[in-house]
Amino acid sequence: MWRIGAVVGLLLAAVPAAAQDTAAQDAARRQALLAHLPADAAKRVFGQIAAPSPGPAQPIGSYAKGCQAGAVPLPADGPAWQVMRPSRNRFWGQPQLIAAIEGLAAKLPALGWPGLLVGDMAQPRGGPMLTGHASHQIGLDVDLWLTPMPDRRLSPAERDTIGAVKVVAADGNDVDRKVWAPQYRALLEAAARMPETARIFVNPAIKRALCREGGTDRGWLRLIRPWWRHDDHFHWRIACPRGAAECENQGPPPPGDGCGKELDWWFTETARHPKPGPPHPPMLVSQLPPQCAALAKP
Ligand SMILES: [Zn+2]
Repeated sequence: MWRIGAVVGLLLAAVPAAAQDTAAQDAARRQALLAHLPADAAKRVFGQIAAPSPGPAQPIGSYAKGCQAGAVPLPADGPAWQVMRPSRNRFWGQPQLIAAIEGLAAKLPALGWPGLLVGDMAQPRGGPMLTGHASHQIGLDVDLWLTPMPDRRLSPAERDTIGAVKVVAADGNDVDRKVWAPQYRALLEAAARMPETARIFVNPAIKRALCREGGTDRGWLRLIRPWWRHDDHFHWRIACPRGAAECENQGPPPPGDGCGKELDWWFTETARHPKPGPPHPPMLVSQLPPQCAALAKP
Protein backbone atom coordinates (compact mmCIF):
# COMPACT_ATOMS: atom_id res chain seq x y z
CA MET A 1 0.00 0.00 0.00
CA TRP A 2 2.68 2.50 0.92
CA ARG A 3 4.18 2.05 -2.53
CA ILE A 4 1.00 3.13 -4.26
CA GLY A 5 0.66 5.99 -1.83
CA ALA A 6 4.23 7.11 -2.51
CA VAL A 7 3.69 7.04 -6.27
CA VAL A 8 0.47 8.98 -5.94
CA GLY A 9 2.28 11.49 -3.76
CA LEU A 10 5.00 11.95 -6.39
CA LEU A 11 2.48 12.35 -9.17
CA LEU A 12 0.61 14.93 -7.20
CA ALA A 13 3.82 16.78 -6.49
CA ALA A 14 4.86 16.68 -10.14
CA VAL A 15 1.55 17.93 -11.49
CA PRO A 16 0.75 21.16 -9.72
CA ALA A 17 -2.91 21.85 -9.13
CA ALA A 18 -4.44 24.16 -11.67
CA ALA A 19 -4.99 27.56 -10.16
CA GLN A 20 -8.71 27.33 -10.80
CA ASP A 21 -9.37 23.78 -9.57
CA THR A 22 -12.71 23.38 -7.87
CA ALA A 23 -12.71 23.41 -4.09
CA ALA A 24 -13.38 19.66 -4.02
CA GLN A 25 -10.44 18.83 -6.31
CA ASP A 26 -8.24 21.06 -4.22
CA ALA A 27 -9.33 19.45 -0.93
CA ALA A 28 -8.59 15.95 -2.29
CA ARG A 29 -5.09 17.02 -3.32
CA ARG A 30 -4.46 18.59 0.06
CA GLN A 31 -5.35 15.39 1.87
CA ALA A 32 -3.12 13.26 -0.36
CA LEU A 33 -0.19 15.63 0.07
CA LEU A 34 -0.54 15.91 3.84
CA ALA A 35 -0.05 12.17 4.16
CA HIS A 36 3.49 12.43 2.75
CA LEU A 37 4.91 15.70 3.96
CA PRO A 38 7.36 16.06 6.86
CA ALA A 39 5.91 17.74 9.96
CA ASP A 40 8.05 20.84 9.47
CA ALA A 41 7.33 21.28 5.76
CA ALA A 42 6.48 24.94 5.32
CA LYS A 43 3.47 24.18 3.15
CA ARG A 44 2.04 21.81 5.75
CA VAL A 45 2.45 24.36 8.56
CA PHE A 46 1.36 27.52 6.70
CA GLY A 47 -1.31 25.61 4.77
CA GLN A 48 -3.12 24.74 7.99
CA ILE A 49 -3.12 28.07 9.81
CA ALA A 50 -6.58 29.57 9.51
CA ALA A 51 -6.09 33.09 10.87
CA PRO A 52 -3.68 35.96 10.28
CA SER A 53 -1.12 37.07 12.84
CA PRO A 54 -1.96 40.14 14.94
CA GLY A 55 0.12 43.28 14.68
CA PRO A 56 1.28 45.50 11.88
CA ALA A 57 1.14 44.33 8.28
CA GLN A 58 4.46 43.23 6.87
CA PRO A 59 5.51 41.21 3.85
CA ILE A 60 8.54 39.10 4.78
CA GLY A 61 10.96 37.60 2.26
CA SER A 62 10.43 37.12 -1.45
CA TYR A 63 7.39 36.21 -3.55
CA ALA A 64 8.32 32.52 -3.67
CA LYS A 65 10.04 32.21 -0.26
CA GLY A 66 8.42 34.14 2.54
CA CYS A 67 5.36 34.83 4.64
CA GLN A 68 3.21 37.74 5.73
CA ALA A 69 2.32 39.35 9.06
CA GLY A 70 -0.84 41.31 9.82
CA ALA A 71 -2.65 40.28 6.64
CA VAL A 72 -6.16 41.56 5.91
CA PRO A 73 -8.93 39.78 4.00
CA LEU A 74 -10.38 41.03 0.74
CA PRO A 75 -14.14 41.28 1.37
CA ALA A 76 -16.03 38.53 -0.45
CA ASP A 77 -17.98 41.12 -2.41
CA GLY A 78 -17.02 44.59 -3.51
CA PRO A 79 -18.49 47.19 -5.84
CA ALA A 80 -16.90 45.38 -8.79
CA TRP A 81 -15.50 42.09 -7.60
CA GLN A 82 -16.41 38.71 -6.13
CA VAL A 83 -13.98 36.39 -4.37
CA MET A 84 -13.87 32.91 -5.92
CA ARG A 85 -12.99 29.62 -4.17
CA PRO A 86 -13.68 31.18 -0.74
CA SER A 87 -13.39 27.81 1.02
CA ARG A 88 -9.67 27.74 0.24
CA ASN A 89 -9.15 30.70 2.62
CA ARG A 90 -6.63 32.35 0.30
CA PHE A 91 -8.21 35.79 0.14
CA TRP A 92 -5.59 37.37 2.43
CA GLY A 93 -3.07 40.00 1.50
CA GLN A 94 -1.14 43.06 2.52
CA PRO A 95 -3.26 46.24 2.73
CA GLN A 96 -1.49 47.54 -0.40
CA LEU A 97 -2.71 44.54 -2.42
CA ILE A 98 -6.28 45.05 -1.19
CA ALA A 99 -6.00 48.74 -2.16
CA ALA A 100 -4.63 47.83 -5.60
CA ILE A 101 -7.54 45.45 -6.27
CA GLU A 102 -9.99 48.14 -5.16
CA GLY A 103 -8.19 50.63 -7.40
CA LEU A 104 -8.37 48.36 -10.43
CA ALA A 105 -12.02 47.56 -9.73
CA ALA A 106 -12.78 51.30 -9.73
CA LYS A 107 -11.38 51.62 -13.26
CA LEU A 108 -13.51 48.82 -14.72
CA PRO A 109 -16.64 50.75 -15.76
CA ALA A 110 -14.52 52.83 -18.15
CA LEU A 111 -12.99 49.66 -19.62
CA GLY A 112 -16.22 47.84 -20.34
CA TRP A 113 -15.24 45.04 -17.96
CA PRO A 114 -18.11 44.11 -15.63
CA GLY A 115 -16.15 43.13 -12.55
CA LEU A 116 -13.31 41.00 -11.24
CA LEU A 117 -13.54 37.37 -10.25
CA VAL A 118 -10.74 37.17 -7.73
CA GLY A 119 -8.85 33.89 -7.45
CA ASP A 120 -6.10 33.00 -5.00
CA MET A 121 -4.25 35.71 -3.14
CA ALA A 122 -2.30 34.38 -0.13
CA GLN A 123 -2.92 32.28 2.96
CA PRO A 124 -3.64 34.10 6.25
CA ARG A 125 0.07 34.12 7.09
CA GLY A 126 1.30 33.60 3.54
CA GLY A 127 4.01 30.99 3.05
CA PRO A 128 4.03 28.06 0.63
CA MET A 129 0.70 26.39 -0.18
CA LEU A 130 -0.23 22.73 -0.17
CA THR A 131 -1.66 22.99 -3.69
CA GLY A 132 -0.82 25.24 -6.63
CA HIS A 133 1.46 28.28 -6.81
CA ALA A 134 5.19 28.57 -6.19
CA SER A 135 4.75 32.23 -5.26
CA HIS A 136 1.78 34.03 -3.62
CA GLN A 137 3.72 33.81 -0.33
CA ILE A 138 4.00 37.40 0.93
CA GLY A 139 0.56 38.86 0.30
CA LEU A 140 1.45 40.82 -2.84
CA ASP A 141 0.21 38.43 -5.58
CA VAL A 142 -3.31 37.81 -6.82
CA ASP A 143 -4.81 35.68 -9.60
CA LEU A 144 -7.60 37.46 -11.45
CA TRP A 145 -9.83 35.38 -13.68
CA LEU A 146 -10.12 36.23 -17.34
CA THR A 147 -13.83 35.53 -17.03
CA PRO A 148 -16.13 38.53 -16.85
CA MET A 149 -18.08 38.72 -13.59
CA PRO A 150 -21.75 37.76 -13.98
CA ASP A 151 -24.25 40.49 -13.22
CA ARG A 152 -25.48 38.75 -10.09
CA ARG A 153 -24.02 37.73 -6.79
CA LEU A 154 -22.72 34.15 -6.95
CA SER A 155 -23.56 31.80 -4.09
CA PRO A 156 -20.69 30.35 -2.01
CA ALA A 157 -21.32 26.97 -3.68
CA GLU A 158 -21.06 28.49 -7.15
CA ARG A 159 -17.87 30.27 -6.21
CA ASP A 160 -16.33 26.95 -5.22
CA THR A 161 -17.36 25.10 -8.38
CA ILE A 162 -17.79 27.39 -11.41
CA GLY A 163 -14.88 27.07 -13.85
CA ALA A 164 -12.86 29.87 -15.41
CA VAL A 165 -13.05 30.30 -19.19
CA LYS A 166 -9.87 29.69 -21.21
CA VAL A 167 -9.07 32.50 -23.61
CA VAL A 168 -6.29 30.63 -25.47
CA ALA A 169 -6.98 28.64 -28.65
CA ALA A 170 -6.58 24.85 -28.46
CA ASP A 171 -3.30 24.88 -30.43
CA GLY A 172 -1.81 27.37 -27.97
CA ASN A 173 -0.61 29.70 -30.73
CA ASP A 174 -2.97 32.59 -30.16
CA VAL A 175 -6.01 33.70 -28.25
CA ASP A 176 -9.35 32.09 -29.00
CA ARG A 177 -11.09 34.59 -31.27
CA LYS A 178 -14.48 33.35 -30.12
CA VAL A 179 -13.70 34.51 -26.58
CA TRP A 180 -11.15 37.31 -26.88
CA ALA A 181 -12.43 40.87 -27.19
CA PRO A 182 -10.92 44.36 -26.86
CA GLN A 183 -11.94 44.51 -23.19
CA TYR A 184 -9.36 41.84 -22.34
CA ARG A 185 -6.54 44.05 -23.60
CA ALA A 186 -8.08 47.03 -21.82
CA LEU A 187 -8.19 45.16 -18.50
CA LEU A 188 -4.62 43.88 -18.74
CA GLU A 189 -3.29 47.26 -19.87
CA ALA A 190 -5.06 49.03 -16.99
CA ALA A 191 -3.54 46.60 -14.47
CA ALA A 192 -0.06 46.90 -16.03
CA ARG A 193 -0.24 50.71 -15.90
CA MET A 194 -1.00 50.87 -12.20
CA PRO A 195 1.98 52.34 -10.35
CA GLU A 196 2.27 49.48 -7.86
CA THR A 197 2.52 46.78 -10.55
CA ALA A 198 5.78 44.80 -10.59
CA ARG A 199 4.82 42.11 -13.12
CA ILE A 200 1.81 40.43 -14.69
CA PHE A 201 2.02 36.81 -15.86
CA VAL A 202 -0.06 35.61 -18.79
CA ASN A 203 -0.01 32.72 -21.23
CA PRO A 204 2.38 33.37 -24.17
CA ALA A 205 -0.61 33.39 -26.56
CA ILE A 206 -2.15 36.23 -24.57
CA LYS A 207 1.12 38.16 -24.64
CA ARG A 208 1.18 37.64 -28.41
CA ALA A 209 -2.31 39.18 -28.72
CA LEU A 210 -1.32 42.11 -26.48
CA CYS A 211 1.82 42.74 -28.56
CA ARG A 212 -0.40 42.91 -31.65
CA GLU A 213 -3.01 45.14 -30.05
CA GLY A 214 -0.70 47.17 -27.82
CA GLY A 215 -0.61 50.33 -29.92
CA THR A 216 2.28 52.78 -30.02
CA ASP A 217 2.65 53.71 -26.33
CA ARG A 218 4.04 50.31 -25.36
CA GLY A 219 5.83 50.81 -22.05
CA TRP A 220 3.19 48.83 -20.16
CA LEU A 221 3.89 45.69 -22.22
CA ARG A 222 7.25 45.31 -20.51
CA LEU A 223 5.58 44.27 -17.27
CA ILE A 224 3.42 41.62 -18.96
CA ARG A 225 5.48 38.43 -18.85
CA PRO A 226 4.70 35.16 -20.62
CA TRP A 227 4.50 32.08 -18.41
CA TRP A 228 3.24 28.53 -18.64
CA ARG A 229 -0.50 27.95 -18.19
CA HIS A 230 -2.21 31.23 -17.16
CA ASP A 231 -4.71 30.72 -19.97
CA ASP A 232 -7.81 31.46 -17.89
CA HIS A 233 -6.47 34.02 -15.41
CA PHE A 234 -3.66 36.50 -15.04
CA HIS A 235 -1.31 36.76 -12.12
CA TRP A 236 -0.87 40.28 -10.86
CA ARG A 237 2.18 40.96 -8.70
CA ILE A 238 2.65 44.28 -6.96
CA ALA A 239 5.98 45.66 -5.76
CA CYS A 240 7.15 45.72 -2.16
CA PRO A 241 5.41 48.64 -0.45
CA ARG A 242 7.62 51.59 0.48
CA GLY A 243 9.13 51.08 3.92
CA ALA A 244 8.60 47.30 3.95
CA ALA A 245 12.09 46.56 5.19
CA GLU A 246 11.83 42.76 5.13
CA CYS A 247 10.28 42.54 1.66
CA GLU A 248 12.51 41.48 -1.24
CA ASN A 249 11.60 42.85 -4.65
CA GLN A 250 12.24 40.80 -7.78
CA GLY A 251 14.71 42.36 -10.23
CA PRO A 252 13.06 44.44 -12.98
CA PRO A 253 12.07 42.67 -16.20
CA PRO A 254 14.46 43.11 -19.16
CA PRO A 255 14.09 46.37 -21.10
CA GLY A 256 11.78 46.51 -24.11
CA ASP A 257 8.23 45.36 -24.70
CA GLY A 258 9.19 41.65 -24.72
CA CYS A 259 7.41 41.11 -28.02
CA GLY A 260 10.18 39.97 -30.37
CA LYS A 261 12.49 36.94 -30.23
CA GLU A 262 11.98 36.65 -26.51
CA LEU A 263 8.30 35.91 -27.05
CA ASP A 264 8.95 33.62 -30.04
CA TRP A 265 10.91 31.28 -27.76
CA TRP A 266 7.72 30.49 -25.87
CA PHE A 267 6.26 28.86 -28.99
CA THR A 268 9.21 26.52 -29.57
CA GLU A 269 9.13 22.81 -28.72
CA THR A 270 11.65 23.38 -25.93
CA ALA A 271 9.37 25.85 -24.23
CA ARG A 272 6.19 23.91 -24.79
CA HIS A 273 7.55 20.64 -23.49
CA PRO A 274 10.17 21.55 -20.90
CA LYS A 275 12.15 18.64 -19.50
CA PRO A 276 11.02 18.10 -15.93
CA GLY A 277 13.81 18.81 -13.45
CA PRO A 278 14.59 16.50 -10.54
CA PRO A 279 11.92 16.62 -7.82
CA HIS A 280 13.04 18.88 -5.02
CA PRO A 281 12.24 18.21 -1.38
CA PRO A 282 9.61 20.49 0.18
CA MET A 283 10.84 23.72 1.74
CA LEU A 284 11.03 23.55 5.53
CA VAL A 285 9.93 26.29 7.90
CA SER A 286 13.59 26.70 8.90
CA GLN A 287 14.48 27.56 5.29
CA LEU A 288 12.15 30.56 5.21
CA PRO A 289 13.29 33.96 6.57
CA PRO A 290 13.70 33.65 10.37
CA GLN A 291 10.74 35.96 11.14
CA CYS A 292 8.48 33.43 9.43
CA ALA A 293 9.23 30.76 12.05
CA ALA A 294 7.63 33.02 14.67
CA LEU A 295 4.49 33.26 12.52
CA ALA A 296 4.36 29.52 11.92
CA LYS A 297 2.34 28.85 15.08
CA PRO A 298 -1.42 29.04 15.09
ZN1 LIG B 1 -0.78 33.23 -9.54
